[in-house]
Amino acid sequence: MAASMQGFIQALRQALGPGAVVSDAAGLATYGYDATPAHRGRPDVVVFPASTAEVQQVVRLAARYRVPIVPRGSGTNLSGGTVPASGGAVVALSRMNRILEVDEANLTATVEPGVLTAQLHREVEQRGLFYPPDPGSMAISTIGGNIAENAGGLRGLKYGVTGDYVMGLEVVLAGGDVMEVGGKNVKDVAGYDLVRLFVGSEGTLGIVTRATLKLLPLPEFRRVAVATFRELEAAAASVSAIIRARIIPATLEFLDRGTLEAVEAFAHVGLPTGVEAMLLMAQDGPREAVDRDVERMAAICREQGALDVQVAASPEEGDRLMAARRYALSALARQRPTTILEDATVPRSRLAEMVRAIQAAARRHGVEICTFGHAGDGNLHPTCLTDEKDATEMERVEAAFEEIFAAAIELGGTITGEHGVGLAKREYLGWRLSPAAMGVMRAIKQALDPQGLLNPGKVLGERTRPRRVVRSA
Ligand SMILES: Cc1cc2nc3c(=O)[nH]c(=O)nc-3n(C[C@H](O)[C@H](O)[C@H](O)COP(=O)(O)OP(=O)(O)OC[C@H]3O[C@@H](n4cnc5c(N)ncnc54)[C@H](O)[C@@H]3O)c2cc1C
Repeated sequence: MAASMQGFIQALRQALGPGAVVSDAAGLATYGYDATPAHRGRPDVVVFPASTAEVQQVVRLAARYRVPIVPRGSGTNLSGGTVPASGGAVVALSRMNRILEVDEANLTATVEPGVLTAQLHREVEQRGLFYPPDPGSMAISTIGGNIAENAGGLRGLKYGVTGDYVMGLEVVLAGGDVMEVGGKNVKDVAGYDLVRLFVGSEGTLGIVTRATLKLLPLPEFRRVAVATFRELEAAAASVSAIIRARIIPATLEFLDRGTLEAVEAFAHVGLPTGVEAMLLMAQDGPREAVDRDVERMAAICREQGALDVQVAASPEEGDRLMAARRYALSALARQRPTTILEDATVPRSRLAEMVRAIQAAARRHGVEICTFGHAGDGNLHPTCLTDEKDATEMERVEAAFEEIFAAAIELGGTITGEHGVGLAKREYLGWRLSPAAMGVMRAIKQALDPQGLLNPGKVLGERTRPRRVVRSA
């Protein structure tokens, strides 16, 4: 280990105390990866600050010793965002996990970054309040990670994504200055929108140390329904028809045949199998409005040719069906050693074409891809069941995903709707953004992190792949 790295680690121990600094082999190995398959690194040190002042000290020392730093929440991201690809220090924010305030007069919550998403849900729901962003990982993901990824979830269609709820941030900038932007004002348009700049910045522009989040009143009632389809197109047509009927459901999720079969084998919740697609629908709000919307959605699905439509008889049955959707990734993950969950998004009117393009790419390259996702907002998760130890299969997987991203762009979509770019998709960013937009992003990064120490190599990769134009079979 270089002498300067030893000096850095020693200085960290002095500043934060030895208990907050890990540098043994087992500890380092634990923080070398995240939920993204096939991406590994090895940090030189892992540090656990407990306050903004301690984060400041870490960042200042990193600048002095020129050590890369990788902020980390729970490591559940699916784009390699917390893999320490250039070594250096992983800054784990798990000790900064306090809900500092729930302000019922202003409908805000102010939290530290290590608060778990589900912990915030529980805390505010006890008071009749509601924090809508609900990524499938919410039991373990952190608010800091959600903000840095601009995470979405099953309620995105009606309620939007994490960024729609971030009102104020405290951020430790590269070099160690602390910046506070935004706050509790509903209207606050003084200057550039720096809150938004940091949302989705994936730890490359600063470390979020506190956030003020918008809350809503807790909807009084919720109802869930499922519809099954023999034809993919009928499911997609139902999604469009529901939106055309001016209904904005709280949840409108899609599961394909492979996903349904895997979930049923895993969770035994009584889901239909042997059908091509299932839509999982939910509405929330006043009971009368919910009942009316759910009945209309059920009727629309029948008109579009659904094989069967069932409305959950009780809130418990509704919860069971919603939980089944959350099992999708775990259920698929049991089937092969490696599960690669991707995140292509298209305008929702192009949903069926996108699913067909995914199926065609999987067939063409001889790989297994199941698809589920947030049909209501066009955000699909093609999920490849594979084995990262099989190099030739991994090449075919890569080629299939390349076609899938190209198809999403062709259909007017994007390479990620909620999981971020990170390490895994940095080479595709130039497919989505114009050279001018890439230039602005690079200029922002250079201005805020001139030494390039904050999560280096993430989002803005060096290489951009030439775009391959794909025609579906
Ligand atoms: C089973 C499963 C289901 C999922 N479902 C969804 C879903 O429905 N919707 C969705 O959007 N995502 C989903 N994800 C992806 C993932 O959970 C989200 O991206 C989540 O927001 C990551 O939170 P985290 O605390 O694990 O962050 P991490 O993975 O630790 O970090 C994510 C990124 O944020 C940065 N970061 C973390 N904390 C900070 C901070 N305080 N300041 C600055 N940067 C920081 C990291 O450097 C990294 O780039 C799912 C993942 C899994 C495994």
